[in-house]
Amino acid sequence: MLRIGCHLSSSKGFLAMAKTAESIGASAFQFFTRNPRGGAAKQWQEADVNAMLAYFEGSGVGMPLAHAPYTLNACAGEEKTRNFALEAMAEDLRKLEMIPGAMYNFHPGSHVGQGDEKGIELIADTLNRTLWKDQQTIVLLETMAGKGSEVGRSFEQLRAIMDRTALQEKLGVCLDTCHVWDAGYDIVDDLEGVLEEFDCIIGLNRLKAIHLNDSMNARGSRKDRHEKIGQGHIGLEAFERIVNHPRLKGLPFYLETPNELEGYQAEIAMLRNMCCGQDAEVSM
Ligand code: FE
Ligand code: FE
Ligand code: ZN
Repeated sequence: MLRIGCHLSSSKGFLAMAKTAESIGASAFQFFTRNPRGGAAKQWQEADVNAMLAYFEGSGVGMPLAHAPYTLNACAGEEKTRNFALEAMAEDLRKLEMIPGAMYNFHPGSHVGQGDEKGIELIADTLNRTLWKDQQTIVLLETMAGKGSEVGRSFEQLRAIMDRTALQEKLGVCLDTCHVWDAGYDIVDDLEGVLEEFDCIIGLNRLKAIHLNDSMNARGSRKDRHEKIGQGHIGLEAFERIVNHPRLKGLPFYLETPNELEGYQAEIAMLRNMCCGQDAEVSM
Protein backbone atom coordinates (compact mmCIF):
# COMPACT_ATOMS: atom_id res chain seq x y z
CA MET A 1 0.00 0.00 0.00
CA LEU A 2 1.32 3.43 -0.90
CA ARG A 3 1.78 5.45 2.29
CA ILE A 4 0.67 8.87 1.12
CA GLY A 5 -0.74 12.03 2.62
CA CYS A 6 -0.48 15.77 2.52
CA HIS A 7 0.14 18.82 4.61
CA LEU A 8 -2.87 19.61 6.86
CA SER A 9 -3.83 22.52 9.07
CA SER A 10 -3.41 21.73 12.74
CA SER A 11 -5.83 24.44 13.86
CA LYS A 12 -8.55 21.97 14.93
CA GLY A 13 -6.17 19.64 16.72
CA PHE A 14 -4.72 16.18 16.27
CA LEU A 15 -7.81 14.00 16.14
CA ALA A 16 -9.32 16.32 13.54
CA MET A 17 -6.21 15.98 11.37
CA ALA A 18 -6.35 12.19 11.49
CA LYS A 19 -10.03 12.24 10.52
CA THR A 20 -9.44 14.74 7.73
CA ALA A 21 -6.60 12.61 6.40
CA GLU A 22 -8.82 9.55 6.27
CA SER A 23 -11.66 11.48 4.64
CA ILE A 24 -9.47 12.39 1.66
CA GLY A 25 -7.96 8.94 1.24
CA ALA A 26 -4.65 9.78 2.91
CA SER A 27 -2.78 7.31 5.09
CA ALA A 28 -0.30 9.88 6.46
CA PHE A 29 -0.17 13.64 7.04
CA GLN A 30 2.17 16.48 7.83
CA PHE A 31 1.48 19.43 10.12
CA PHE A 32 3.27 22.51 11.45
CA THR A 33 4.31 22.23 15.08
CA ARG A 34 3.43 25.92 15.47
CA ASN A 35 2.59 28.93 13.36
CA PRO A 36 4.93 28.56 10.36
CA ARG A 37 5.85 32.22 10.60
CA GLY A 38 6.88 31.94 14.23
CA GLY A 39 5.50 33.08 17.54
CA ALA A 40 4.52 31.19 20.66
CA ALA A 41 3.36 27.61 20.30
CA LYS A 42 -0.02 26.36 21.45
CA GLN A 43 -0.02 23.67 24.10
CA TRP A 44 -0.86 20.21 22.83
CA GLN A 45 -3.79 18.61 24.63
CA GLU A 46 -2.85 15.17 25.84
CA ALA A 47 -6.42 13.89 25.46
CA ASP A 48 -6.46 15.10 21.83
CA VAL A 49 -3.12 13.48 21.07
CA ASN A 50 -4.28 10.22 22.65
CA ALA A 51 -7.53 10.33 20.71
CA MET A 52 -5.48 10.65 17.51
CA LEU A 53 -3.27 7.70 18.50
CA ALA A 54 -6.37 5.60 19.21
CA TYR A 55 -7.82 6.67 15.86
CA PHE A 56 -4.67 5.44 14.12
CA GLU A 57 -5.36 1.96 15.47
CA GLY A 58 -8.73 1.62 13.82
CA SER A 59 -7.94 3.41 10.56
CA GLY A 60 -5.36 3.27 7.80
CA VAL A 61 -3.91 6.58 8.95
CA GLY A 62 -0.57 7.01 10.70
CA MET A 63 2.94 8.35 10.23
CA PRO A 64 2.37 11.98 11.25
CA LEU A 65 5.27 14.18 10.17
CA ALA A 66 5.80 17.33 12.20
CA HIS A 67 7.28 20.26 10.27
CA ALA A 68 9.22 22.97 12.09
CA PRO A 69 8.26 26.59 11.37
CA TYR A 70 9.93 28.26 8.37
CA THR A 71 11.28 30.98 10.63
CA LEU A 72 13.45 28.47 12.45
CA ASN A 73 16.97 29.25 11.26
CA ALA A 74 19.64 27.32 13.10
CA CYS A 75 22.43 29.15 11.24
CA ALA A 76 21.13 32.72 11.36
CA GLY A 77 23.63 35.55 11.70
CA GLU A 78 22.02 36.91 14.85
CA GLU A 79 22.35 35.00 18.06
CA LYS A 80 18.79 35.91 19.06
CA THR A 81 17.44 34.15 15.95
CA ARG A 82 19.63 31.11 16.52
CA ASN A 83 18.41 30.93 20.09
CA PHE A 84 14.81 30.94 18.91
CA ALA A 85 15.68 28.01 16.64
CA LEU A 86 17.27 26.15 19.52
CA GLU A 87 14.39 26.77 21.91
CA ALA A 88 11.65 26.07 19.37
CA MET A 89 13.28 22.83 18.27
CA ALA A 90 13.89 21.69 21.84
CA GLU A 91 10.30 22.43 22.81
CA ASP A 92 8.90 20.76 19.67
CA LEU A 93 10.96 17.64 20.28
CA ARG A 94 9.92 17.47 23.92
CA LYS A 95 6.27 17.63 22.90
CA LEU A 96 6.73 15.08 20.12
CA GLU A 97 7.63 12.43 22.66
CA MET A 98 3.85 12.27 23.17
CA ILE A 99 3.48 10.86 19.64
CA PRO A 100 5.37 7.59 19.19
CA GLY A 101 6.44 7.07 15.58
CA ALA A 102 6.14 10.72 14.59
CA MET A 103 9.12 12.29 12.83
CA TYR A 104 10.28 15.91 12.87
CA ASN A 105 11.31 17.69 9.70
CA PHE A 106 13.15 21.01 9.53
CA HIS A 107 14.85 23.24 6.99
CA PRO A 108 18.54 23.23 7.94
CA GLY A 109 18.73 27.00 7.60
CA SER A 110 20.08 29.97 5.65
CA HIS A 111 23.60 31.13 6.40
CA VAL A 112 22.81 34.72 5.37
CA GLY A 113 26.27 35.46 4.04
CA GLN A 114 28.34 33.64 6.64
CA GLY A 115 29.17 30.91 4.12
CA ASP A 116 28.18 27.26 3.78
CA GLU A 117 30.90 26.01 6.14
CA LYS A 118 29.84 28.29 8.97
CA GLY A 119 26.19 27.43 8.30
CA ILE A 120 26.88 23.71 8.54
CA GLU A 121 28.79 24.22 11.77
CA LEU A 122 26.00 26.27 13.37
CA ILE A 123 23.28 23.80 12.33
CA ALA A 124 25.21 20.86 13.78
CA ASP A 125 25.84 22.90 16.92
CA THR A 126 22.09 23.45 17.33
CA LEU A 127 21.44 19.73 16.88
CA ASN A 128 24.17 18.86 19.36
CA ARG A 129 22.55 21.11 21.95
CA THR A 130 19.04 19.80 21.27
CA LEU A 131 19.08 16.06 20.65
CA TRP A 132 19.26 13.69 23.58
CA LYS A 133 20.15 10.05 23.86
CA ASP A 134 16.76 8.64 24.78
CA GLN A 135 14.56 10.67 22.48
CA GLN A 136 12.40 8.54 20.22
CA THR A 137 11.68 11.08 17.50
CA ILE A 138 13.82 10.95 14.38
CA VAL A 139 14.78 14.43 13.16
CA LEU A 140 14.81 14.92 9.40
CA LEU A 141 16.97 17.39 7.52
CA GLU A 142 15.03 18.52 4.46
CA THR A 143 16.80 18.73 1.11
CA MET A 144 16.65 22.39 0.06
CA ALA A 145 16.32 24.19 -3.28
CA GLY A 146 19.26 26.50 -2.61
CA LYS A 147 17.17 29.68 -2.65
CA GLY A 148 19.19 32.60 -1.33
CA SER A 149 21.77 31.26 1.12
CA GLU A 150 19.96 28.02 2.01
CA VAL A 151 22.16 25.29 3.40
CA GLY A 152 21.24 21.70 2.49
CA ARG A 153 20.97 22.12 -1.29
CA SER A 154 23.38 19.24 -1.89
CA PHE A 155 23.63 15.76 -0.45
CA GLU A 156 27.20 16.59 0.57
CA GLN A 157 26.03 19.48 2.75
CA LEU A 158 23.46 17.31 4.50
CA ARG A 159 26.10 14.67 5.04
CA ALA A 160 28.46 17.27 6.51
CA ILE A 161 25.79 18.34 9.03
CA MET A 162 25.18 14.72 10.01
CA ASP A 163 28.91 14.04 10.34
CA ARG A 164 29.23 16.83 12.88
CA THR A 165 26.25 15.71 14.93
CA ALA A 166 27.10 13.47 17.86
CA LEU A 167 23.75 11.62 17.99
CA GLN A 168 23.70 10.85 14.27
CA GLU A 169 21.38 7.91 14.79
CA LYS A 170 18.61 10.40 15.62
CA LEU A 171 18.92 12.01 12.17
CA GLY A 172 17.39 11.21 8.81
CA VAL A 173 16.61 13.01 5.58
CA CYS A 174 13.36 14.11 3.97
CA LEU A 175 13.79 14.43 0.21
CA ASP A 176 11.62 17.14 -1.33
CA THR A 177 11.21 16.47 -5.06
CA CYS A 178 10.66 20.14 -5.94
CA HIS A 179 13.67 21.19 -3.89
CA VAL A 180 16.16 18.65 -5.27
CA TRP A 181 14.98 19.45 -8.82
CA ASP A 182 15.39 23.17 -8.23
CA ALA A 183 18.80 22.45 -6.68
CA GLY A 184 19.84 20.75 -9.93
CA TYR A 185 19.31 17.00 -9.37
CA ASP A 186 17.80 15.36 -12.45
CA ILE A 187 15.07 13.19 -10.98
CA VAL A 188 13.23 13.29 -14.33
CA ASP A 189 15.79 11.73 -16.68
CA ASP A 190 18.11 10.15 -14.12
CA LEU A 191 16.18 9.16 -11.00
CA GLU A 192 18.33 6.07 -10.73
CA GLY A 193 21.53 8.11 -10.76
CA VAL A 194 20.22 10.60 -8.18
CA LEU A 195 19.21 7.82 -5.79
CA GLU A 196 22.56 6.15 -6.31
CA GLU A 197 24.32 9.41 -5.50
CA PHE A 198 22.15 9.83 -2.40
CA ASP A 199 23.06 6.30 -1.36
CA CYS A 200 26.79 6.87 -1.84
CA ILE A 201 26.90 10.19 -0.02
CA ILE A 202 24.26 9.86 2.70
CA GLY A 203 22.98 6.29 2.54
CA LEU A 204 19.44 5.40 1.51
CA ASN A 205 18.89 3.93 4.96
CA ARG A 206 18.83 7.57 6.15
CA LEU A 207 16.03 8.51 3.76
CA LYS A 208 12.89 8.50 5.89
CA ALA A 209 10.31 10.56 3.99
CA ILE A 210 9.55 12.15 0.63
CA HIS A 211 7.89 15.51 0.03
CA LEU A 212 6.08 15.04 -3.25
CA ASN A 213 5.83 18.32 -5.16
CA ASP A 214 6.07 19.33 -8.77
CA SER A 215 8.08 22.47 -9.55
CA MET A 216 7.05 25.69 -11.29
CA ASN A 217 10.61 26.16 -12.51
CA ALA A 218 13.32 24.54 -14.57
CA ARG A 219 15.93 22.25 -13.05
CA GLY A 220 18.63 24.15 -11.21
CA SER A 221 16.54 27.32 -10.87
CA ARG A 222 17.00 27.41 -7.06
CA LYS A 223 13.56 29.00 -6.75
CA ASP A 224 11.47 26.65 -4.54
CA ARG A 225 8.01 27.23 -6.02
CA HIS A 226 5.83 24.14 -5.62
CA GLU A 227 3.42 23.14 -8.37
CA LYS A 228 0.55 20.64 -8.49
CA ILE A 229 1.56 17.07 -9.39
CA GLY A 230 1.91 16.75 -13.16
CA GLN A 231 1.50 20.46 -13.86
CA GLY A 232 5.11 21.55 -13.48
CA HIS A 233 8.56 20.88 -14.88
CA ILE A 234 8.91 17.49 -13.18
CA GLY A 235 5.79 16.05 -14.78
CA LEU A 236 3.53 13.07 -14.29
CA GLU A 237 5.77 10.35 -15.71
CA ALA A 238 8.55 11.20 -13.30
CA PHE A 239 6.15 10.95 -10.38
CA GLU A 240 4.96 7.59 -11.62
CA ARG A 241 8.57 6.38 -11.53
CA ILE A 242 9.12 7.90 -8.10
CA VAL A 243 6.13 6.33 -6.34
CA ASN A 244 6.94 2.97 -7.94
CA HIS A 245 10.68 2.97 -7.37
CA PRO A 246 11.73 -0.17 -5.49
CA ARG A 247 14.31 1.74 -3.43
CA LEU A 248 11.61 4.14 -2.20
CA LYS A 249 9.12 1.43 -1.40
CA GLY A 250 7.60 1.72 2.04
CA LEU A 251 8.57 5.36 2.58
CA PRO A 252 5.84 7.85 3.46
CA PHE A 253 5.08 10.44 0.75
CA TYR A 254 3.68 13.87 1.70
CA LEU A 255 2.15 16.31 -0.77
CA GLU A 256 2.86 20.01 -0.27
CA THR A 257 1.31 21.11 -3.51
CA PRO A 258 -0.74 24.31 -3.86
CA ASN A 259 -4.11 22.70 -3.12
CA GLU A 260 -7.17 22.74 -0.92
CA LEU A 261 -8.44 19.44 0.46
CA GLU A 262 -10.31 18.46 -2.73
CA GLY A 263 -7.15 18.98 -4.76
CA TYR A 264 -5.14 16.84 -2.36
CA GLN A 265 -7.80 14.14 -2.47
CA ALA A 266 -7.59 14.05 -6.26
CA GLU A 267 -3.78 13.92 -6.27
CA ILE A 268 -3.74 11.12 -3.70
CA ALA A 269 -6.21 9.09 -5.77
CA MET A 270 -4.20 9.73 -8.94
CA LEU A 271 -0.92 8.66 -7.32
CA ARG A 272 -2.53 5.57 -5.82
CA ASN A 273 -3.78 4.63 -9.28
CA MET A 274 -0.28 4.98 -10.66
CA CYS A 275 1.02 2.27 -8.37
CA CYS A 276 -1.89 -0.13 -8.56
CA GLY A 277 0.57 -2.93 -9.36
CA GLN A 278 2.28 -2.47 -6.03
CA ASP A 279 -1.01 -2.18 -4.11
CA ALA A 280 -2.46 -5.27 -5.79
CA GLU A 281 0.62 -7.25 -4.87
CA VAL A 282 0.14 -6.47 -1.18
CA SER A 283 -3.57 -7.25 -1.09
CA MET A 284 -3.22 -10.66 -2.75
FE1 FE B 1 9.68 22.09 4.16
FE1 FE C 1 9.13 20.27 1.54
ZN1 ZN D 1 9.48 24.15 -0.65
